[in-house]
Amino acid sequence: MTELSSGVTVIVIPQPTCNGPLHIGHLSGPYLAADIASRAARARGDRVLTLAGIDVHPNYVLTKAENLDMDPAEMVAKFRAQITKAYELARIGYDAFLDPQDPDYRRAVAGMLGELVANGTVPMREMTLHKCADCDRTLHHSYVVGKCSLCGEGANGLSCEGCGGFASAQTLIDPSCARCGGSPVPMVASVPVLPLEDYRDQLLADWMQSELPGRVRAVLEYYLRAPLPDYPLAYPTNWGIECDGVLAGMRVDFPTELGFSYLYGAAHALRPRANGLAEWVEAWQEVDGVWHFNGIDNAFYFTILYPAILAAAGVPRPLSRGATVNELYLLEGKKFSTSRNHALWADEFLAEEDPELVRLYLSWDRPDRYQSDFTRQGYRAFCEFIRPLLDGKRAGDWALPPELVPAELERAEQALRLIGFDSALAIRCLVGALSTGTGLDSGAMTALIGRDPLRAAIGR
Ligand SMILES: [Zn+2]
Ligand SMILES: [Zn+2]
Repeated sequence: MTELSSGVTVIVIPQPTCNGPLHIGHLSGPYLAADIASRAARARGDRVLTLAGIDVHPNYVLTKAENLDMDPAEMVAKFRAQITKAYELARIGYDAFLDPQDPDYRRAVAGMLGELVANGTVPMREMTLHKCADCDRTLHHSYVVGKCSLCGEGANGLSCEGCGGFASAQTLIDPSCARCGGSPVPMVASVPVLPLEDYRDQLLADWMQSELPGRVRAVLEYYLRAPLPDYPLAYPTNWGIECDGVLAGMRVDFPTELGFSYLYGAAHALRPRANGLAEWVEAWQEVDGVWHFNGIDNAFYFTILYPAILAAAGVPRPLSRGATVNELYLLEGKKFSTSRNHALWADEFLAEEDPELVRLYLSWDRPDRYQSDFTRQGYRAFCEFIRPLLDGKRAGDWALPPELVPAELERAEQALRLIGFDSALAIRCLVGALSTGTGLDSGAMTALIGRDPLRAAIGR
């Protein structure tokens, strides 16, 4: 597998859940990294198509609005504005914006699922789901809490933050209603199900040939031994894109929506006139593969569910090319927490700071290998250190010997490739070059600070 290929690599910037603004921990993880890698790929002449968007359909969003006693639509509009402002201020660019509030997008997602049910690819199965005995909510995602059956950590009905495995009300140990504490009662419903085990061969081929970090492979190792779950693609519930036809009364489950959003979003960007599942799948002939930037806790989705949705939709080849994952970023030694107001909001911080310095610092301190820690003191010291170099001033007696500069510039460029992406290394190499008054116009520096205007055209 080479990074120099004629096809398009789809780079996915994960859609943030619209239940709060982005904080700089988010930026330090997938968001900036995906943007920097996309810019570096374009500068090399690789064809990449970068997808970004927002996610309004996890029931965490409704839960948040109810907790804040806000109208859900008003709350979504407020956070959406803050999230897109943060993208803009941080110079996070993209070729296509996956917009769940766009009627065409919603029609496309519900339509693709409906078509796969109608043609028998996605079977309807009677499943025992659970609802709350007290408040009657269907217990999924933020509505249920329990312990992960794989690692024992506390988890909601989604992927487990502890181990990245799949959790649902049906698999959690000691589940209860997260909203009122009520007990789960079984409820049999006929829902569209993706039997992931049926896609094992395609998924294995995908896993074999894609560049996945060890922590992601550890999640997959479990599924090499254990059966892949039957995944409900829609639920009878009160939040999400409404289905119609045989699925009337159900809502598309939001990870299902995300899987279809990548299929539709890339196809629509490549062939704007394509319409309907068959034509969108056809458009994917131009795609070489998908590269996900995401947190480790979403490993189940980007290595199993999303590729299986593409396979079910009829995209024929293994399409995962790899993933770049990150750990959590800490703030002054503690986890970011919205409820404790222990956060530095990206839109507010970027409005006051030089975005180039923010991008460089978050790249320098990226939580890629371990939980690194944002401190205001560290950020200020970094700015004072790097600003004169960005202004073209040479360092004094610590400047790098000029003979070493070409190697440092080359290593910085190579560190921004998708395979082995390491922005923290790139900026360290560049500091050496900058100390001699060179490197400011290098491709790596341009990608790191995000100064070049992102071309809207897909880098041909
Ligand atoms: Zn309840
Ligand atoms: Zn777990």
